[in-house]
Amino acid sequence: MHDDRLHVERRIDRLYRERILPAKYAARVPLAVEVWYVPDEPVPVAEALAAQYRPATVGEPWGTPWSTAWFRVRGTVPEQWAGRRVEAVFDLGFSGGGPGFQAEALVYDADGTPIKGVAPRNTYVPIANPAQGGEQVALLVEAAANPDVMVHGFRPTPLGDKATAGREPLYRLAYMDLAVLDEDAWHLALDIEVLAGLMAELSTSDPRRHEILRALERAADALDAQDVAGTAAAARAQLAPALASPAHASAHTLAAVGHAHIDSAWLWPQRETIRKSSRTFANVTALAAEYPEFIFAGSQAQQYAWVKAHQPAVFDRIAEAVKAGQWAPVGGMWVESDANLPGGEALARQLVHGKRFFMDELGVECEEIWLPDSFGYTAAFPQIARLAGIRWFLTQKLSWNQTNKLPHHTFRWEGIDGTRVFTHFPPVDTYNSDLSGREVAHAVANYAEKGAGTRSLVPFGWGDGGGGPTREMLETARRLRDLEGSARVVIEKPADFFRAAEAEYPNAPVWSGELYLELHRATYTSQARTKSGNRRSEHLLREAELWAAAAAVHAGYAYPYEALDRLWKVVLLHQFHDILPGSSIAWVHTEAEATYAQVADELRHIIGCATAVLAGAGTVFNAAPHARAEVVDAADGPVFVRVPALGAARLASVDPPAAVTVAGLVLDNGLVRVEVDQNGLLASVRDLAADREVLAPGRPGNLLQLHADLPNEWDAWDIDAHYRRQRVDLTEASSVTVVDSGPLVGAVRVVREFGASRVTQTIRVRAGSRRVEVETDVDWHETEKILKAAFPIDVHADRSASEIQFGHVYRPTHANTSWDSARFEVYAHRWTHVAEPGYGVAVLNDSTYGHDVTRSTREDGGTTTTVRLSLVRAPRFPDPDTDQGAHRFTYALLPGASIVDAVAEGYALNLPLRVVAGGEGAAPAPLVAVDDPAVVVEAVKLADDRSGDVIVRLYESSGARTTTTISPGFEAGAVTVVDLLERPLPHTPMEPAAARLTLRPFQIVTLRFART
Ligand SMILES: [Zn+2]
Repeated sequence: MHDDRLHVERRIDRLYRERILPAKYAARVPLAVEVWYVPDEPVPVAEALAAQYRPATVGEPWGTPWSTAWFRVRGTVPEQWAGRRVEAVFDLGFSGGGPGFQAEALVYDADGTPIKGVAPRNTYVPIANPAQGGEQVALLVEAAANPDVMVHGFRPTPLGDKATAGREPLYRLAYMDLAVLDEDAWHLALDIEVLAGLMAELSTSDPRRHEILRALERAADALDAQDVAGTAAAARAQLAPALASPAHASAHTLAAVGHAHIDSAWLWPQRETIRKSSRTFANVTALAAEYPEFIFAGSQAQQYAWVKAHQPAVFDRIAEAVKAGQWAPVGGMWVESDANLPGGEALARQLVHGKRFFMDELGVECEEIWLPDSFGYTAAFPQIARLAGIRWFLTQKLSWNQTNKLPHHTFRWEGIDGTRVFTHFPPVDTYNSDLSGREVAHAVANYAEKGAGTRSLVPFGWGDGGGGPTREMLETARRLRDLEGSARVVIEKPADFFRAAEAEYPNAPVWSGELYLELHRATYTSQARTKSGNRRSEHLLREAELWAAAAAVHAGYAYPYEALDRLWKVVLLHQFHDILPGSSIAWVHTEAEATYAQVADELRHIIGCATAVLAGAGTVFNAAPHARAEVVDAADGPVFVRVPALGAARLASVDPPAAVTVAGLVLDNGLVRVEVDQNGLLASVRDLAADREVLAPGRPGNLLQLHADLPNEWDAWDIDAHYRRQRVDLTEASSVTVVDSGPLVGAVRVVREFGASRVTQTIRVRAGSRRVEVETDVDWHETEKILKAAFPIDVHADRSASEIQFGHVYRPTHANTSWDSARFEVYAHRWTHVAEPGYGVAVLNDSTYGHDVTRSTREDGGTTTTVRLSLVRAPRFPDPDTDQGAHRFTYALLPGASIVDAVAEGYALNLPLRVVAGGEGAAPAPLVAVDDPAVVVEAVKLADDRSGDVIVRLYESSGARTTTTISPGFEAGAVTVVDLLERPLPHTPMEPAAARLTLRPFQIVTLRFART
């Protein structure tokens, strides 16, 4: 026959868009609308119920940025609508875009009970089905005038802060109506959407494509374009056979899971996330009532906790849906955190607090990690996950890689210690699927395990700013259950998917090491004050738990369970994958900085109380896991002290190995000799014990380098490789002066000015320490720049080691392969280490995460390995003033360092000795002592069950099998090995009688000591 395929496709497309879709609502009457504008921040519904309203009209502008308007609407269902499906429909003045990035609302009944969210593509509230006619309708609509911060792409915008967003109304009320849903027209639109969507993905050589085309053509013939309502049923009848044809025997199975990715803060503040969660969760429970097969997966315990506190009625409906099997709490984490930067203990607590919430509140123990959107995944995760009772891992984000494609979609992911976790990476390449023909076909085509596995997971529902699944998506899923030419779409719980996927593919391939995202590499650096707040909070929490536990055990101090639980949850929330990475609007980061300051105050108070109980005064406390002999800054000046690990000592000076001599700009403590040149650069760092120069010949150390840093897109997230092509070395100093610090400390202060900015650095060498510290104050006023500090080190290092959670990862220093080359910016926690056999050097930091390590060969044949820290940047989106102003941090060079040294000094730099000044008092015994320096105590606390048992978490830090003795410093009863939730584990590496413990490389062990 003649080929008229394109003509027919165009005919169907026009009918669908211009006639069938608009016929969804058969009749409408406007509701009477009144409005009350909230003066400032959102209010509870009780306040809105009591407010004074005034009449409002369609077309009226409303909504200054970030404001709230409450609309009170009233109406009567017309008598002639008896028997029909009646809904209230709202258009707040929506832009053409999807939900989550513009105006949205929560609709309540007249008593203030929340019913359902309203947003673009989901604009209805059910009224009656079937209607009697004459029903009185009264609703309250809490409308949020959230601005679209990305409306102009990545251009700087003032919209991300209430203070700068302006006062112009953003929206114009379009309609608030009662309407009759024409079910035939609506279902016809859905039938066409599914069949046409599938057809477009099939090959033109596939007979099925043409069968669908002719079915659509017959439906068009049966339709009166001027009377869609009257002829839609006849048109649907023409499509029924095409929709009834079953899937191929070999069809891929898509496990469809309803989902709503809700960023806990991003282009909106936390307070708006509370409301987004309520709207979305109300939508989901409303949809669950209508579609019994619907299953929703909700992650992030924090969002449930918010909804429980702010909208208890919605939380009750969630609990019912969980009981009914329609709602699966997933992920087992407090938030979907960043998965690179949180410290080891914090990542463990993400799981402890998340899992506990879901178990206590909803009776569900999550067995999967659910992190579709975080920006890369630490190689420590498999072990941490398994120790929290997790069996499976899900991510999707690596589909954003710019360079390399991960070869697997279902695999066993192996961590640094050898632990493996069954992992799925949905081939649909989105966590916000709409189940369109295009996405379903992409999932099948992309799935890399074909022939070995038969199933993949697809999370469907509007996401990022929330929204979640719509009834149209559920109708689509019904049509795709068993349809010729399509994957089979089966709605099921993630756990059921994982069980089936693991059973059919037990020998899935292995991916070893970190899941590095080849994008968003600047999230290790942006918003440096937020990152510093996180680092300080993590270490203060460690100290507070340690000293409070010691005070409770030794002196009956009341352990502050509630305060610590609350403070941990605040810190965990701020590790969300747009807060800690620095990719949120100004509002979020300003708030985060203030919150971190409060957290620090509260934790210092707890530490102050506990240490005062323990030792009276005149004592030095060492919260680090290694004994220290070092100079401490006491009230009367520097004192050299010796303090045991996790313990305390009298503040009494002992003799240092040698005093520090300062001659001109040369600092010498007998261990290292540091020469500062006239420009304030490190001209030489000599390791006197090893008798070798640390720096490469002719290359100054601590060279500050300023690069242009304008990525192609995603300003706060991305640093593009081209940044290296433009660079200014800050070699000029405004002043270089020796700071008189007494015989125990030698220091030189260097001030540099450039652009509108100034850096003041104090280079310091202390008696008895090989550490060369660089205490840094930056007054930063650059834009679209990055400031790096370079240490060109004279070692031939094939790889660098960077500290991660409970261990370290190695990364090549060369760029042989595309995978190596893409890792041009990496993260480290407290240290990065480079070495050749027999000699290593570490670069330590107290709050910097971003690094790069490169290697070059010199004229003399030697190799220079250059370690650089990424100190501060200045992207202009989404926060146009990112990182402007004051920053304070310290980093240090540690010559002659093994990995074990780097671990110890990394803790020491981040946990300064704490002096309790004043009178007399005995120093208490450490709660626990470990006799191998490679075995590191990460946490000491009292048990969460409030039994008073002491919990000690430790790990092997060097990457070697190690045996150690553990000695409690108190009357301990039985000791058991427990999981992260402090439950007994079956396989124990402990010989209880001898208190000896053998750990495999990087093994994490949690011990529970009963109290006698
Ligand atoms: Zn996200």
